[in-house]
Amino acid sequence: MDDKIDLKNMTHADLVAYLDSLGQPAFRARQLFKWIYQQRVSDFAAMTNVSKALREDLSARCRISTLTPLTVQDSQDGTRKYLFSLEDGATIEAVRIPMETDKATLCISTQAGCAMGCAFCMTATSGLSRNLRAGEIVNQVCAALEDGPLGNIVMMGMGEPLHNLDNVIDALNILYLDDGLGFGARRVTLSTCGLVPEMLELKKRIKVNLAVSLNAADDELRSRLMPINHRYPLAELIAACEKYSRETKQRVTFEYILIKGVNDSLVMAKKLVKLLHPVRCKINLICFNQHPGSDFKSPDENTIRAFQKYLLDHGMVATLRAGKGRDIDAACGQLKGRMDSKTHCTATR
Ligand code: SF4
Repeated sequence: MDDKIDLKNMTHADLVAYLDSLGQPAFRARQLFKWIYQQRVSDFAAMTNVSKALREDLSARCRISTLTPLTVQDSQDGTRKYLFSLEDGATIEAVRIPMETDKATLCISTQAGCAMGCAFCMTATSGLSRNLRAGEIVNQVCAALEDGPLGNIVMMGMGEPLHNLDNVIDALNILYLDDGLGFGARRVTLSTCGLVPEMLELKKRIKVNLAVSLNAADDELRSRLMPINHRYPLAELIAACEKYSRETKQRVTFEYILIKGVNDSLVMAKKLVKLLHPVRCKINLICFNQHPGSDFKSPDENTIRAFQKYLLDHGMVATLRAGKGRDIDAACGQLKGRMDSKTHCTATR
């Protein structure tokens, strides 16, 4: 890593201000964004519609970072998991999940590790290493685009996005820019474990689909599964979700990982209906992915269907997310950002 300024960390406004400091007009920022994100150029010399003097000046002061996967693992179901090593050696993962069209959804990380300590999550076991910079978040998307087009981006990989709020908002601004990657806000979803003040701050600063990892419908169980619930219990969290939904006119998605004998009973389904009644929402049910080192188990098919049916019968919108990439530990809650004995490289670039 050198001490040059990485343009990948800059939003359009940042780049306009930086170019202004070099005596350059604002339109140059859009020119540079097109080269960086649409042509995916990392060498200033290739930017042929920029004057030679400016190209030389920029290459003396700045750089354009990229991410190359350390390993790529392919699942039998078409899911692809990328392991990236960052410039300081920290490692993160992203997962490409095929959609029914020729596009894919990319699940990206926002932190190396995570400090939130959710009991069912592999990422939690190693704690937080550090926040990702905006460029490190966006570069996961740039790297995955080398394998084909992406329909949607979900910030549901390693880390709690709202624990890295400023960098995540910069990354969203970069993802949204028309002259750059051009993802509209409707194509990006941010998932949080429930940091209430940051959720409300996010709402003020940028538009994005919000998903909340819920996993229990009473405080006693949720606090056991997700320590953040001690700080922001359900009444506070659900009130914030209701406000988010009302003020943004968007439906909030609640993710509910079904764990055998823990939160999969019809008693809990009944509590869930009552809890979520005030919020315009959708419930995304996810079957827990069993992994070594965890005492939790996946529920059987009948239990999952009965839980979903109860929600549907009581007027909730409840979908069941197909578990993808289990054979390569790429499913929800399985990302840990390191190679292990099961990791094998199917493609290295
Ligand atoms: S589920 Fe999300 S917030 Fe919870 S520990 Fe895992 S990565 Fe962090």
